[in-house]
Amino acid sequence: MVFERKYYELLEVSPDASESDLKKAYRKRALKLHPDKGGDPELFKEVTHAYEILSDPQKRSIYDSRGEAGLSEQGGMGGMDPQDLFSQLFGGAGGFFGGGNRPQGPRKTKDLVHRVHVTLEELYKGKTTKLALTRNILCSKCKGKGGKDGAVRTCPGCHGRGVKVMMRHMGPMIQQIQTACDDCSGTGEFINTKDRCGNCKGKKVIPDKKMLEVHIDKGMKGGQTVVFRGESDQAPSAEPGDVVIVIEEKPHERFRRQENDLILEVEIDLLTALAGGQFGIKHLDERALVVQVHPGEITKHGDVKVIHGQGMPSQRHHEPGDLYVKVNVRFPELVDASAIPLLEQALPPREPLEDFGKDTTLDEVNLDAVDTRSKNGFKSAAAAAAGDDAMDEDSEEPRVQCANQ
Ligand SMILES: [Zn+2]
Ligand SMILES: [Zn+2]
Repeated sequence: MVFERKYYELLEVSPDASESDLKKAYRKRALKLHPDKGGDPELFKEVTHAYEILSDPQKRSIYDSRGEAGLSEQGGMGGMDPQDLFSQLFGGAGGFFGGGNRPQGPRKTKDLVHRVHVTLEELYKGKTTKLALTRNILCSKCKGKGGKDGAVRTCPGCHGRGVKVMMRHMGPMIQQIQTACDDCSGTGEFINTKDRCGNCKGKKVIPDKKMLEVHIDKGMKGGQTVVFRGESDQAPSAEPGDVVIVIEEKPHERFRRQENDLILEVEIDLLTALAGGQFGIKHLDERALVVQVHPGEITKHGDVKVIHGQGMPSQRHHEPGDLYVKVNVRFPELVDASAIPLLEQALPPREPLEDFGKDTTLDEVNLDAVDTRSKNGFKSAAAAAAGDDAMDEDSEEPRVQCANQ
């Protein structure tokens, strides 16, 4: 029986997936989400963790019957570095992506992942932001040894393994529980109090603050990363991992972004729509575009036009995309009766009444304003008649995809 589905959903498989289905699904997801391919490192980690659990039949059965809570009861299961699992399964990340090679060798400390929220203006112009980072560095006084030479001994509690194994009876089952050794906090080593380094108290590392300058390049997109190699925690027996900055794009109140194109809705008055004029668009930098509507061109309500070269800059060469403008026409509330002959002169004549034939009785009625406070059924009928629901809006979007090719 399966109660929780999260891990299955992360891998996009059904809960009855076979072991080979899982492996295939993980490979597909991991290739797509791999940070070397610009994927989100956090999601990559989650998906890897899900695979780690589901690929182990014992852990999978615990997860299926008791969910994540059941797994955490087991305790002491330090997660694997997703990069390592990935390499182990598929023979090295470098083999897939050509570059970003992670050689087999010394262990690495965990990557530090930090998200920065960036406005569209900042992504348009580019920005340098400072981040204060606190990570562990090797203690300079004991050079990461924790004490004087020879002071470090193997922990007698766990014989240097860092973990203790206990048996627990659960009904007919015997469960093996691994927990971090509490004598040595899982390090496998032991230093007498008097021999400990005074600077780091025997911990070998001390917290250290560092300022990082994050260059957000013009045209970067949400989900992209800026990586500082080797700036994560230092540890005596491991190489430092990376600091990974993930760019998150804040939604903009006027512009929508589609790759390097921008999409905007504007409202113009009826006279400008019929007889020309101009309107302004405040851009993402210090400029405003003054858009000319030429006399003699008719702009219809809902028309989508393009302003070339005013989209987002591309990241590599800063070539700009296009700006798509959906034009809404604002009708006047009133027209002076004395001006109607002028309109009749300017506009095409009114369409004559349809001929319904001799057998039809003609019944003259008026159009009244709809009272929006009336009953629900009537209100929704009025809304339906107006045709202004979200679906309609969407179908009028510019087809940027096609225009781009
Ligand atoms: Zn120990
Ligand atoms: Zn020290």
